Amino acid sequence: MALRIIIGLGLTVIAFALAARRLWFLYRLGRTGQPAPERIAALRERPGRGASAELSEVVGQRKLFQWSVPGAAHAATFWGFLVLLLTIIEAYGALFSRRFAIPVIGHWAVIGFIEDLFAVAVLAGLVTFAVIRLRSDPARQGRASRFSGSHTRAAWIVLGMIFGVIATLLIYRGAQINTGVFPYQHGAFASEVVAGWLAPLGTGANSAMETTFILAQLAVVLAFLVVVVNSKHLHIMLAPLNVLFSRRPNGLRGLQPMRSNGKVLDFEEADPDTDIFGVGKVEDLSWKALLDLGTCTECGRCQSQCPAWVTGKPLSPKMLILDLRDHALAKAPYLLATSDEERAALPDAVRAEAGRPLVGTAANHGVIDLDVLWSCTNCGACVHECPVDIEHLDHISGMRRNQVLIESEFPSEASVMLKNLENKGDPWGMGGAKRLDWTEGLDFEVPVVDGKLDADVEWLFWVGCAGALEDRAKKTTRAVAELLHTAGVKFAVLGGGESCTGDPARRMGNEFVFAMLAQANIETLNEAGVRKIVASCPHCFNTLANEYPQFGGTYEVMHHTQVLARLVADGKLKPITPIEEKVTYHDPCFLGRHNKVYTPPREIMEQVPGIQSQEMHRCKERGFCCGAGGSRMWMEERIGKRINEERIDEALGTDPDTISTGCPFCLVMLGDAVSAKQNSGEAKQSLEVVDVAQLLVRSVGRPGTEQG
Ligand code: SF4
Ligand code: SF4
Repeated sequence: MALRIIIGLGLTVIAFALAARRLWFLYRLGRTGQPAPERIAALRERPGRGASAELSEVVGQRKLFQWSVPGAAHAATFWGFLVLLLTIIEAYGALFSRRFAIPVIGHWAVIGFIEDLFAVAVLAGLVTFAVIRLRSDPARQGRASRFSGSHTRAAWIVLGMIFGVIATLLIYRGAQINTGVFPYQHGAFASEVVAGWLAPLGTGANSAMETTFILAQLAVVLAFLVVVVNSKHLHIMLAPLNVLFSRRPNGLRGLQPMRSNGKVLDFEEADPDTDIFGVGKVEDLSWKALLDLGTCTECGRCQSQCPAWVTGKPLSPKMLILDLRDHALAKAPYLLATSDEERAALPDAVRAEAGRPLVGTAANHGVIDLDVLWSCTNCGACVHECPVDIEHLDHISGMRRNQVLIESEFPSEASVMLKNLENKGDPWGMGGAKRLDWTEGLDFEVPVVDGKLDADVEWLFWVGCAGALEDRAKKTTRAVAELLHTAGVKFAVLGGGESCTGDPARRMGNEFVFAMLAQANIETLNEAGVRKIVASCPHCFNTLANEYPQFGGTYEVMHHTQVLARLVADGKLKPITPIEEKVTYHDPCFLGRHNKVYTPPREIMEQVPGIQSQEMHRCKERGFCCGAGGSRMWMEERIGKRINEERIDEALGTDPDTISTGCPFCLVMLGDAVSAKQNSGEAKQSLEVVDVAQLLVRSVGRPGTEQG
């Protein structure tokens, strides 16, 4: 007995010392991050949100269940480990007394049953994980495997260790049953089966196995603890923290304002010597961003849904996080050194790592390649998928901001767009005088705000640059205006007083131009007394609703499909003319995934007689990007398959007569892809891409409204 106490406690002391050393190192590394007081403040202001996130995402495993089979396997393993903490108490107790039982509940048959039930559940989870990993082996599947780029060997070792935990548990419990010291008379069904297998070995052998496997169980659990803090399984400890401090409802919708030293950066007062402009080195990451890096489970869910990765581009959101993490860990001794002498004495490899640019090219050993950084469409699929609430978009926008504002390094073709925004207020540089051209030929007058909004005007119709200036998008604008007019809704537009919301600049990383445009627009809107805005562009909608409040512009903002769906439901718009067509709807990322507007466009189409709606496989939360977001609209797509063509290939699988959407940029991107397919004979000539509003206006029946 004394020997097993010495071995058990000795192993415990060694393992806890190793784990504590590693955790102390990680804690000190985390403390090198920039302050993020907004995360603490958000939690203080709404502690209930943090608690409910912990309950639903950590305890309830909500996001893991977005993938049902692996989600169920993970939940079984996670819940199993919580329950099996009881068995670890029992194993420690058994070191001191063979007949140890947990006080009060330690002899309840139901406890023995639950422990065994979850032990078996964990085994089932392990088998499922093993099958999933074998079926998605990156060695066979290459890029198509979500584990491509993950540390797969370490994952197999951990699966083996978890198997070891369960196997040693069941063996020592079986032996305990045979030696008569097991605390539960009934209920522990799996342990009883193992006891049946071990019984023929006799009491002496069972007694030896009881001691051996209690120690083996503790050894495996303690080794697991050490492996956890040194591997991707650190997420077991960090995920609850990351979930607690993540943005709510998630890291989508608006981008965060630029912060320096924990404060929102004011460009007028910024000091280039002391302020931080985005993320130019790993030291510029906040502690929350560092926490993200340590929490990644390498599950590859984000990667599998990323339109850039799926179409052959070098960006994988998973590998972006892992590359940042590996760099932060390799540079850690340099970050933690307290003097120049200490830094100079570091091994060459550490100093070389410290000298790598965070963003660069293969030639200068950049941690994140420029092509990786600029491939992102900001579609948000990675953030939506991530089971541990990693905020990839914050990382990408931080690095883009530094590249644009400090390094002046970005795809050159986008520079014209940025100049046009700065000088003319729209990406095409057409200027305010053209912003009302879309109204020509309408059989009613569109009121234009002149200073103050008239008291009887309910909605400010935010037309957007594409809606005002791009020929295909103008058809949507005319349809929306026509429908609002038909329904008797009082609305007005800003005309030449409207400028770009600044979304393309912000998504590029040019926070300076974004702030300039946002402040000017907010001034105009506030002076006009605007309270309610209907926007026909999801990017404008997202920026007005979620980013303008950061600059003091707070309005009730709706997308046109939301307003039109309500008008149809209220009987103010009556779709009558049948449209006998098969229509498949493409969810714009900034309407759907970012802002959860999935139902209104579909409700509108349901009300149009004759339309047969067909969903694409990737729809709603899993919708696939058109390729225009994240300012990609203004950059060449030189690597891999074009994202819009990938999307159209999927749409063609539903054999549609029409592809509908709710975004002018999707309209353009998908329209271009359809034209390409028509030219190559892969799509029928009659196939067209239209906005849902165009379908509705055809059915509501005011002909001649789409000829913009
Ligand atoms: S936002 Fe979209 S494109 Fe960008 S990394 Fe995430 S999934 Fe990929
Ligand atoms: S970032 Fe999230 S979704 Fe992507 S691999 Fe890591 S844990 Fe999985």
